[in-house]
Amino acid sequence: MDFDLTKEQEMIKKEVRKFALKEIAPVARELDEKEEFSVELTRKMGEIGLFGMFVSEKYGGQGLDYLSYIIAVEELAKVDASQAATIAAGNSLGIGPIYYFGTEEQKNKYLPKLCSGEGLWGFGLTEPEAGSDAGGTKTTAVKDGNEWVINGSKIFITNGSSPISMGVTVQTVTGTREDGRPEYTCFLVEHGTKGFTAKTIHGKMMWRASNTAELYFDNVRVPEENMLGKRGDGFKQMLMTLDGGRLSIGAMGLGGAEGAYERALKYAKQRVQFGQPISKFQAIAFKLADCATEIECARNLLYKACWLRDHNRPFAKYAAMAKLYCSELMGRVVDRAVQIHGGYGLMKEYDVERFYRDQKILDIGEGTSEVQRIVISRHIGC
Ligand SMILES: Cc1cc2nc3c(=O)[nH]c(=O)nc-3n(C[C@H](O)[C@H](O)[C@H](O)COP(=O)(O)OP(=O)(O)OC[C@H]3O[C@@H](n4cnc5c(N)ncnc54)[C@H](O)[C@@H]3O)c2cc1C
Repeated sequence: MDFDLTKEQEMIKKEVRKFALKEIAPVARELDEKEEFSVELTRKMGEIGLFGMFVSEKYGGQGLDYLSYIIAVEELAKVDASQAATIAAGNSLGIGPIYYFGTEEQKNKYLPKLCSGEGLWGFGLTEPEAGSDAGGTKTTAVKDGNEWVINGSKIFITNGSSPISMGVTVQTVTGTREDGRPEYTCFLVEHGTKGFTAKTIHGKMMWRASNTAELYFDNVRVPEENMLGKRGDGFKQMLMTLDGGRLSIGAMGLGGAEGAYERALKYAKQRVQFGQPISKFQAIAFKLADCATEIECARNLLYKACWLRDHNRPFAKYAAMAKLYCSELMGRVVDRAVQIHGGYGLMKEYDVERFYRDQKILDIGEGTSEVQRIVISRHIGC
């Protein structure tokens, strides 16, 4: 067993850390406060190669392994969840489906721009009445000559309405299968297509500097060549995309936990009460010891899941486990981190306040914790 990162992975970790501290840390609090998506930061993240990390160089990507990408997300999340979310969704959910299921024409048309950070692509699965029940899709696509006509709506779509959003992959119902169940097919819909509108969702508790949208499709016509993969493959494509996406949510949980822990440890060593640093009180030291131990467990689980994926082994069970464990771990760590900061931890001047809010989405997005437990229990034969 080799627990060391490769030289290349070590370098990526160091460079992304340096970038996050220099470019993101100084503006993270202000962007969160103003609930503002930053095109400038997104472009800068593109310039240093954070989009398309696992995509072949042929399409403008970096040709790296999945673990390298996960390490990059982890490093961003140590500093700011919103920017980490832009990268995680941009790669796993935006670029992923086109790269893995798209035609050569689709890849050549969209991937270079998405891999440079010039544009963003959304993943349109969730609907107002179809959340955890991802098969409850109501959006339809009806064939009309050489075109498909899409009607319906999507909600909570990350990167769906930013000034640089180029389009979205949409799961639609295209008919009924022989077994009587709905037939799902995905289409690529570009912004600017007649009848397609996107509205930014405001008032979020978390990921306030990340873009989230509601999407509406009113008789949107797309040509046959905008179909992603084969007719009827939509649901399978979406679930496979989510397996990879769960690793990036895991990375956000791990990175967020590490960020909160680092801040709590530093604070505990500086804050003096009853004549000594509070880190010397066993009640505080044990909280930090638990954080350090659980973070180590989370990293091993997440990296193992990535290793399985990078070695083309089945990894869906481990992806669900890593997503569940890392998300809930961050919940425990941010709770302890705020507690260690006392009243100051509840103030916006302290990053742990933002980390505390940013954690909650991890228990909900890309399959809630309950859904992860359902997935895991099926894998273990329950
Ligand atoms: C900021 C943000 C970004 C997002 N980005 C995207 C995106 O890019 N693309 C996209 O498609 N979606 C996105 N989502 C949607 C997200 O994936 C859904 O919110 C999530 O899947 C849960 O769906 P829901 O909110 O409808 O909750 P519901 O499914 O209504 O769940 C409500 C509660 O019921 C529980 N529950 C439901 N079914 C079961 C069951 N069978 N057993 C036990 N408990 C159950 C859930 O676990 C949850 O606790 C995003 C959401 C947010 C908030």
